[in-house]
Amino acid sequence: MRIVVLAGGIGGARFLAGVRAHAHATGDEVTAVVNVGDDVWMHGLRITPDLDSVMYTLGGGIDPERGWGRAGETWTVKEELAKYGAEPTWFGLGDRDIATHLVRTRMLNAGYPLSAVVAALCDRWQPGITMLPATDDRLETHVVVAAEDGSGDQAIHFQEWWVRHRAALPAKQFRFVGADTAKPAAGVLDALQAADIVLLAPSNPVVSIAPVLAVSALRDALVGGPAPVVGVSPIIGGSPVRGMADKCLSAVNVPCTAEGVGRLYGARSDGGVLDGWLVDSTDAATDVPGVRVAAVPLWMTDDDATAAMVRAALELGGRA
Ligand code: GDP
Ligand code: CA
Repeated sequence: MRIVVLAGGIGGARFLAGVRAHAHATGDEVTAVVNVGDDVWMHGLRITPDLDSVMYTLGGGIDPERGWGRAGETWTVKEELAKYGAEPTWFGLGDRDIATHLVRTRMLNAGYPLSAVVAALCDRWQPGITMLPATDDRLETHVVVAAEDGSGDQAIHFQEWWVRHRAALPAKQFRFVGADTAKPAAGVLDALQAADIVLLAPSNPVVSIAPVLAVSALRDALVGGPAPVVGVSPIIGGSPVRGMADKCLSAVNVPCTAEGVGRLYGARSDGGVLDGWLVDSTDAATDVPGVRVAAVPLWMTDDDATAAMVRAALELGGRA
């Protein structure tokens, strides 16, 4: 069976580790379509946070506490840059991690599409799944906030809002810059067409999954495709579990609940994307019109627990 997973960074990576554990037992093939909306240029380097979180997690190189960057990291380059006052000083790249960024940036500058760069980096990390960026084109999430000088609104890059301001500036709107012309990356449409099931990882719905679905040809292929689509809730009992998804949801006036996110995605039969919505046992009363809902424990405590979630999602999609 072919499983396609739409995913963001940390939540996506943990979920994919469970999908891989499941696939290892069954021989299923897994393709991850990963958010690029967080991507940004800094210090002349192309930074792709969600792709790297997935690659390092599945490749065994992640710092498990931080959930991003390399294990055993040192920060000499960051300290030296700060001594020059080189902005942005609020964004850290570790010394080991910089090697990845140098390889990626050199390949992009040589003209390779991001999907080819990801494939080349994965030669080293062997994630055990096929990793694809949602698009090879520029697609960046920007956040509209009140200007610091009171002169109205301004849009800042998602990374500046998330990392520098810790999502504390009230977000008025999220914009996926470039989405109107972005095409799915090489391999994405084929994967969706061949999929037996598509899963939405329990990733941030507003700034991880929405930018993937903002690529209109990708969304059309998902909605019009043959495979059932099952989402896994990133919200448990009204809490985003880890991270700041609550701040993103409040910006788009969606309650921080499993039901709120399920309704945000909506039923495929009703202009949305979902056939099934998997929620935590504590959220069993969740109702999303037109969508089959099932409830199981959704805490990704280890790969076995996550693989059990994956099996429940496949069952909900009629593919177990
Ligand atoms: P990011 O790109 O690094 O922010 O990561 P993602 O968007 O892929 O995932 C972040 C989201 O994962 C968080 O907002 C949480 O809602 C969700 N999450 C994290 N841990 C868990 C967990 O154990 N279970 C569930 N259901 N969701 C989780
Ligand atoms: Ca992210």
